Amino acid sequence: MLSRLNDRQHEAVKYIGGPLLVLAGAGSGKTSVITTKIAYLIKECGIKAAKIAAVTFTNKAAREMKERVGNLVQGKEARGLTISTFHNLGLTIIRKEHRVLGYKAGFSLFDDQDTKSLIKDLMHKDFQADAEVIGWVQHLISGWKNDLIEPEQAMGLAQDDKETLAAVVYREYDRHLQAYNAVDFDDLIRLPVRLLRDHPEVLERWQNRIHYMLVDEYQDTNISQYLLVKLLIGHRSNLTVVGDDDQSIYAWRGARPENLITLGQDFPSLKIVKLEQNYRSTELILRAANTLIANNPHVYEKTLWSEMGGGDKIRVVSCRNEDAEAERVVSEILTRRIKDNDKYKDFAVLYRGNHQARLLEIKLQAFQVPYKISGGTSFFSRHEIKDIMGYLRLLVNPEDDNAFLRVINMPRREIGPSTLEKLGNYANQRHISLFNACAELGLEQHLSEKQIDKLRRFNHWLQQTIQRCTQEDPILAIRQMIQDIDYEAWLHQNSSSPQVAEKRMGNVWILLESLRDTLTRLEEDDDSATIEDAIARLVLRDMLEQQEKEDDSDRVQLMTLHSAKGLEFPHVYIIGMEEDLLPHRNSVDEGNIEEERRLAYVGITRARKTLAMTFASQRKQFGEMLNCTPSRFLDELPEADLEWEGRETQPDEAKRARGHAALESLKKMLGG
Ligand code: ATP
Ligand code: MG
Repeated sequence: MLSRLNDRQHEAVKYIGGPLLVLAGAGSGKTSVITTKIAYLIKECGIKAAKIAAVTFTNKAAREMKERVGNLVQGKEARGLTISTFHNLGLTIIRKEHRVLGYKAGFSLFDDQDTKSLIKDLMHKDFQADAEVIGWVQHLISGWKNDLIEPEQAMGLAQDDKETLAAVVYREYDRHLQAYNAVDFDDLIRLPVRLLRDHPEVLERWQNRIHYMLVDEYQDTNISQYLLVKLLIGHRSNLTVVGDDDQSIYAWRGARPENLITLGQDFPSLKIVKLEQNYRSTELILRAANTLIANNPHVYEKTLWSEMGGGDKIRVVSCRNEDAEAERVVSEILTRRIKDNDKYKDFAVLYRGNHQARLLEIKLQAFQVPYKISGGTSFFSRHEIKDIMGYLRLLVNPEDDNAFLRVINMPRREIGPSTLEKLGNYANQRHISLFNACAELGLEQHLSEKQIDKLRRFNHWLQQTIQRCTQEDPILAIRQMIQDIDYEAWLHQNSSSPQVAEKRMGNVWILLESLRDTLTRLEEDDDSATIEDAIARLVLRDMLEQQEKEDDSDRVQLMTLHSAKGLEFPHVYIIGMEEDLLPHRNSVDEGNIEEERRLAYVGITRARKTLAMTFASQRKQFGEMLNCTPSRFLDELPEADLEWEGRETQPDEAKRARGHAALESLKKMLGG
């Protein structure tokens, strides 16, 4: 288990006397230290797996970690081990402690779109809010939540009209979430922190449950995540965190790289181990990464070297436009696969923004190259999944008015807006949910008997389904529900072709399969797990994780630079190496170049054997062809290690060559 490790890694794994920080550059084996250490704690130190919690940021990273640990510890020995994202851990805590927090069982989890639509509703009451306004209100609220600032405090902190408006919405938004018995993404950390901070008996319970914590990608923790960790480990300080300040890329989402420094202040006995050998990339790739990141200021000096050999030069490919760029990447992958006998899955294409995947997808499909996208438009944003999830949410939490509104006319029940308005008014008056209001409504509310009947029938039918879920196999009950509403017929009426309808129905069955899977997995760890828990997990994208796991097939991988963090691939393409894309325009405006540079650093250091970067001379934006400038980051790479393609000789060089030639002919003319 330990034999493969170098001395420093060894030291980090075996150090269990107190808090430890492993601070090291990309590919130096930080995650490997965590996974080996988990095995070491279980096998050598006799700590029960159930008392260990390892957290990281993305589902993909958590899954990788599980796989790596799974190779070292199996079966009974691994039972109860927590390896999850921060948010999943938060969900576990809320699930167990919802009563203390004033939530009922079966609370709903609002995803990004739910949050947006609630904010939109709240704002529409006063004035027309466009997507941009909603976007920044959401962003500000999320920021406050991550900094553990409550609505009242936010009012006091607001600096201008914009922030005051957001603070007002924040207060309303928070109240509505409570009323809907719902929590949002940021609450998954904020509520557990509040809980552990304010309830010593709960804190004790959790401190007894978790005896050792490990945190990967520590540089990207925000204030609330850091506090959660700190509270959980308490005075025991049994903590190993690993991180790299050069890979901090989530400041825009509240991450605080200074948490690395805070750690030293909060834990004076903190031990720091630095790793220097990179085991991932060739020397040229590593040198490019090091040279680039040297342009950022550094708190901690790190050196990083590799014994993987020089390797190929880094290719920089200039393309006519974005279309040519996508085609170039795809056709290269095709030929390289055949020529070098590589697999599709050895190739990753990374980009700054999700929208850049669209053209790639089209070309990949055209060339029949299998691919998979992570982190893009998710399974959960598909209409059919949103529909059925709406029903599922209402099943487990009839207070969820958002879900109610989503499903009430889907399929059509001919319950019009004015009926819904009366229903809403009544529910407001009585402080009850829309769903419960359906059962109480009468002629006094100036509704026709027909309307009343429709609402009652809906309420009654769903009540029955809820009952069936508790009495028999919940998945069968849900299947029945989908048949009751004749969802398949609805899809056929509302899809462009029968094939599309069938595909969409197929997605619904995948959803149910995953629900069953999730439930089974939860029950393995916890007998009290219910269908509600399983549904909440699903909203947390666990299903995507599941899908990816099953999908071990040979596919080219497409993802954003952000979601590539922690991963590695033999061959990497970074596309769109242009000013305004990478570095992103907003960051340039806001003077956040350093974070963009770190993002490029993350991208480069994903590559093991070869790296290619592409840029387009022209790109379509807002329906207009714009001329693009190659990214400044390309100029920051060591010129001698690059191989440019498709670019005329460098302007300076060309000029110099021309000047030189002119001088020579002048000399000749003068007979010199
Ligand atoms: P990142 O900063 O990108 O998250 P990391 O520091 O977490 O990288 P790992 O992913 O743990 O690095 O390791 C990078 C690669 O090096 C992996 O393929 C891993 O298996 C390998 N590796 C780590 N330590 C060793 C070692 N001592 N000997 C050989 N290979 C190693
Ligand atoms: Mg890592």
